[in-house]
Formats: sequence, C-alpha cells, structure tokens
Amino acid sequence: MKNIRYFTNGVDTVEWNEEACMHSGKCLVNLPGIIKNSEAESINVSENQFETIVKQADFCPSKALKLKDNR
Ligand code: SF4
Repeated sequence: MKNIRYFTNGVDTVEWNEEACMHSGKCLVNLPGIIKNSEAESINVSENQFETIVKQADFCPSKALKLKDNR
C-alpha cells in the first residue's frame, strides 16, 4: 500500500508520496524535527518547518515531495 503523508501549516499542504520517492525519504529524515516523532498521515508543522519542506520540494527530482494546490 502506498504511503502518502501530508504536511500542513494549516493553510497550505505539501504531499510526500513514498512510492515516487527515489531516495527513501532521506530529505525528510534530514529535516530536523519534522517527521521523527510521527507516523501520522497528516502532520501539522510550524511555519518555519513548512517553508523548509517547500524549499526541499523545489529540489525533489521525482516530484514525490510537492506542494498541493489547495486553491
Ligand atoms: S528529494 Fe524527493 S526523491 Fe529525494 S528523498 Fe526527498 S522526496 Fe524523496
């Protein structure tokens, strides 16, 4: 079964699709404090953490990590 996680700041959401991820989620593991304590599908993050995830999504070669269009 696909593992999809959602990271939200309460307004916007970034989606991470494990199946599409080329590097075993290493970028998320290396983002301090964001996923280490949670197996939840949807994770509320601080504004700073959210911005960090969005920046990482810009570098994701597989688009496994991407900003969802909430509008
Ligand atoms: S940059 Fe993309 S492909 Fe690489 S670990 Fe992060 S989500 Fe996966």
